[in-house]
Amino acid sequence: MRILVVEDEAGLAESLRLGLSADGHWVEVVHDGHRGLDLALTGGPYDAVLLDLMLPGLGGHEICTRMRAHGDRTPVLMLTAKDGEHDEADGLDAGADDYLTKPFSFVVLAARLRALARRAGTPRVDVLRAGDLVLDPSGRRCRRGEREIELTARELGVLACLMERPGRAVAKQDILDEVWDVPHAIDPNIVEVYVSSLRRKIDAPFGRRSILTVHGTGYRMAPDGG
Ligand code: CA
Repeated sequence: MRILVVEDEAGLAESLRLGLSADGHWVEVVHDGHRGLDLALTGGPYDAVLLDLMLPGLGGHEICTRMRAHGDRTPVLMLTAKDGEHDEADGLDAGADDYLTKPFSFVVLAARLRALARRAGTPRVDVLRAGDLVLDPSGRRCRRGEREIELTARELGVLACLMERPGRAVAKQDILDEVWDVPHAIDPNIVEVYVSSLRRKIDAPFGRRSILTVHGTGYRMAPDGG
C-alpha cells in the first residue's frame, strides 16, 4: 500500500516509516499539518493516511475534515495521545475511519491498516520488488533500498517489463511490444540504450547487477535485485 504518515514526533515517525517500509509498503512521512494536508490532497493517491491528532500548523481533525470536504475518501487512521471517548467521537465525526491511541503496538497498527484497506475495497497498488529494488509503475517511482531513483517513463516501462517476469529471459522484441507505441517501426536494439541507462541508475551506483544480458535473446531480471 501507499501510505502517508503525518506525525510530528520524529522518533515515532521514523519507526513508522521503517516498520511500514519493511512490510513492503510505500511510505511518505511529513511532520507538519499544512504539508500533510497538501500531500494528502495532491501527493497521492494513497491507500491510507496515518494522521496524528496534535500537529504543528494544522491538527489531524482539521486535515481529515478538509480531505473529506474535498471529496477525498482515502481511509484515515487517526493517531492520538489522548484516550477519552470524546476524542474518539471527534475523530470519527471529522471523517476518520479508525483511530489508535498512543502508545500502540506496530502489529496492531499493521492489522488496522489492512482492515481499513479491505473495508475501503482499495485496489492493491501493484508494487514490483526484486530484493531491495522497488518499482511502483502506477506511481511512477523507483527506489533501491532507501534511495529514490529518477527514471524516465520509457526506462520505467522497460524495468517494469523485466521485473514482472523475475528470473525469466525477456526478448528485446517483447519489451519493445510492451513499452513502445509503434514497435514495428523501431529497431529492437533501441532497448539496449534504455537498459544501459537503467543499469547506470539502478545498478552501478550501488555496485549491483540486476539486469542480466541473455545473449541472443534479451534480458533477465535477477529476482534478488542483483
Ligand atoms: Ca503530535
